Amino acid sequence: MATFQGGWQWCSLCSGLVHDSRAGVCPVSTEHARVGAMQVAMSTSEADGVPGWSWCGRCSQMFWRAGEAASRCPGGGTHTSGESGPYALPRVTANRTPSGWYRCGRCQSLFSGYEGTGGSCFDGAAHNAADDVQYLPRQEILKLMILRGPKIKRV
Ligand SMILES: [Zn+2]
Ligand SMILES: [Zn+2]
Ligand SMILES: [Zn+2]
Repeated sequence: MATFQGGWQWCSLCSGLVHDSRAGVCPVSTEHARVGAMQVAMSTSEADGVPGWSWCGRCSQMFWRAGEAASRCPGGGTHTSGESGPYALPRVTANRTPSGWYRCGRCQSLFSGYEGTGGSCFDGAAHNAADDVQYLPRQEILKLMILRGPKIKRV
């Protein structure tokens, strides 16, 4: 029986996946425009998804931790993974549509876009997919996985 972490929402301005534990920083407005109620399935197996993702305690977005040093946070500097547990995201292999979740090659955030572009990057330009990998369809229940449990603290 899977358990889930709630509190995740899509921001209709920057198109990132943001957690409600913190206001965060949106590159478009003074706050993220949070839409929907998404959940993250908890797991203890890396086989369930592509590992390497973290929550940024500054902007409150999901981002690619492996690219942290070269990432750009809308809150300034690089994203910061220090307060996050590790996450893994399943990649979409079947029934792919042009709309989906991608990793931005510029800011390293996870974003929802059409054919690899959309939303708003740290500098106000559109996000641009780093590669052809599509992670998730946008839906109410996101099949994200948390490895070894979250460290997010509500403040
Ligand atoms: Zn936003
Ligand atoms: Zn950030
Ligand atoms: Zn970006």
